[in-house]
Amino acid sequence: MKKILILLLAIIIITSMFGCAPVMQQYQTEFIDTFDTVVSVIGYARTQDEFTKTAQMVYENFTFMNKLFDIYNDYDGVNNIKTINDNAGVAPVVVDKLIIDLIMQAKAWHEQANGTVNIALGPVLKIWHDYRTEGIENPAFAQLPEKDALIEAAKFTDIDRVIVDEQSSTVYIEQGMRLDVGAIAKGFATQVTADLLEESGVEHILISAGGNVKAIGQPADERSKWGVGIKDPDSTLNYSTSEQNLLDVAFVENLSVVTSGSYERYYIVNEFTYHHIIDENTLFPAAHYKSVTVVTKDATAADVLSTALFIMPIEQALAFVESAGNTEALWVTLGGEVVFSSGMTPYLRDLGGATNK
Ligand code: ADP
Ligand code: MG
Repeated sequence: MKKILILLLAIIIITSMFGCAPVMQQYQTEFIDTFDTVVSVIGYARTQDEFTKTAQMVYENFTFMNKLFDIYNDYDGVNNIKTINDNAGVAPVVVDKLIIDLIMQAKAWHEQANGTVNIALGPVLKIWHDYRTEGIENPAFAQLPEKDALIEAAKFTDIDRVIVDEQSSTVYIEQGMRLDVGAIAKGFATQVTADLLEESGVEHILISAGGNVKAIGQPADERSKWGVGIKDPDSTLNYSTSEQNLLDVAFVENLSVVTSGSYERYYIVNEFTYHHIIDENTLFPAAHYKSVTVVTKDATAADVLSTALFIMPIEQALAFVESAGNTEALWVTLGGEVVFSSGMTPYLRDLGGATNK
């Protein structure tokens, strides 16, 4: 009798243990004070506390890297990209290892991506940035930069003259040069943060930094994949990701999905739109596509490639993706045609019939 009682008790305890075993719940949060964009953290955790800890890690890392990669603002006690720019032609600047890392990766990508993405294009990008800011504030007086000024600025954009000393953790650029890490910083911050989360045991989280999406693992529910919306570049509802604004949905696990689009940042001069991705060959906005979406594992790669593939003409862009391996892309051309790399459609819900079971 006693044995049966103990057995019964044991069964009750075990059942109640399972009964109480916390099931994974879905949580979501976002913040808007880094990288000039919305960063959202979506995912599954056993408790609110566990999720809050994860979100806090994302927030702290993004806050720190936002300071490091800022080209417009100074921060107390931090040498950032602006500090490097302010010291052009003056002296090497001692910087955090993350800045060295970002610059080394950017140099390698410049080489690989046929020179399309160049973080030393700052002098040219600054001119466009200033005219765009003016033109947005004062649409009636919006103007194009002078071609001569762009050509002059382009003399100071040689990325090989960005001198990195890994030993002493310094960066030096010559007078007239200026770094702009806008094409890589968000992806890099997303990847660094995702690595830290994974190291600390996080398993089911999606980070989206202004459309730079990195999925860690899978959703912890009946779905096998995360659904990442790909915006229809013709949709006028710019910041909404509701269904009617989507071109498609990519189903992914453990991958990054990043889109670069001409609709992101632009201004209008004489009824023509001038966006923010500049082709070094023409010194004008790249003019092949409305948007490019990249699917690949590494978020830094995805961010750089979305910009690089936006600049390359379609034959070159397709050939680049096909030879890159483990990278897929989708282009929406200026004419509205959708072009895919060979392995892209299996990710796509509408254009490829992918399911999320
Ligand atoms: P977003 O920042 O809107 O997500 P991208 O990732 O495509 O878009 O990056 C665009 C930014 O990259 C621009 O705002 C500018 O700072 C920078 N940029 C533009 N053209 C180039 C280029 N050819 N090489 C390097 N950086 C560029
Ligand atoms: Mg980019």
